Amino acid sequence: MPIQKGAGVVDINNRRIINGKDADVVQLYPMRHTFAWEAYLAGNSNHWLPTEISMQRDIEQWKSKDVLSADERQAFETVLGFFTTADSIAANNLVLATYKHITSPECRMYLLRQAYEEAIHTHAYQYIVESLQMDEAKIFNMYREKEAIYNKDMLVLSLNEGIFASDFKTGTFENDQKFLENMIVFSLIMEGIFFYSSFAVMFGFQRQNKLTGSAEQIQYIMRDESQHLNFGINMINAIKQEQPELWTKAFQDHIIDLVRRAVVLEYTFATEVFPKGIFGMNAQGFKQYIEHIADRRLETIGLPLQYNVQNPFTWMSEAVDLNKEKNFFETRVTEYKTGGQLNW
Ligand code: FE
Repeated sequence: MPIQKGAGVVDINNRRIINGKDADVVQLYPMRHTFAWEAYLAGNSNHWLPTEISMQRDIEQWKSKDVLSADERQAFETVLGFFTTADSIAANNLVLATYKHITSPECRMYLLRQAYEEAIHTHAYQYIVESLQMDEAKIFNMYREKEAIYNKDMLVLSLNEGIFASDFKTGTFENDQKFLENMIVFSLIMEGIFFYSSFAVMFGFQRQNKLTGSAEQIQYIMRDESQHLNFGINMINAIKQEQPELWTKAFQDHIIDLVRRAVVLEYTFATEVFPKGIFGMNAQGFKQYIEHIADRRLETIGLPLQYNVQNPFTWMSEAVDLNKEKNFFETRVTEYKTGGQLNW
């Protein structure tokens, strides 16, 4: 985009998430979407790296014959099988499909941060797989072998095809709706629903005091993902405000339909991966949990609840709670102290 010489100061009223009229995307100010800047700052203060978390105990437990049952091992592997490629799919979408169409410089700032976080997440899975000396090829290829993972990935990727096309442009009613659909699919469905039975399983391990290093990695990832989800919801709601004509009844029904399809895929995944249930979580529990989560997602963008069910895994809301940030840091500080004492 060329620079308009002598064009004067950008009018804040022309700033838009997409289709900004004065789309000089290199000027951070005047800042209109301040939620994006806040998310960027929060992302920075939550910075972490997988290698900061000790995996020693996990390595011992994974090697031992007595700690983990065959079902638990299989559940852990399959959850990783989903995770290992999911964040790469999310990162590709951000960098190759979303970023260039966003005309809010502050949203672009956060997207850069978010893209890096997706890389850190993929690094975390790699680090777990490597630490436990798991079969890398098997885990990283699982999305092509396990139908339940393949189906989830394909729902997201098939809806995304149009946005990846090199000639795709926002600015028409049809394309803007398609773009909004993409944001909803990635934020609400991929990051907001498809990660959640796997998160539940990982925290199930943690509550049994098993594989707690891996679970801590996932806890950091979940904190980042909650931030990604919140940012996505804020962008979706901002587009709804800026271009209300996109939010038709037919479009709303279409989104509800997509979410309902995603819910079925997600609890199908959970029940295929954990056919006998795990840590007291059974098929019915997963179904209800996913339905509960889906209702929470729908209401954030002003769509009607579909399921009206209680959360059967109430302990999960504690693990998700962003206010736990303080505790995360307390953990880290303690660990650094311990490490320092050991070294000295
Ligand atoms: Fe993410």
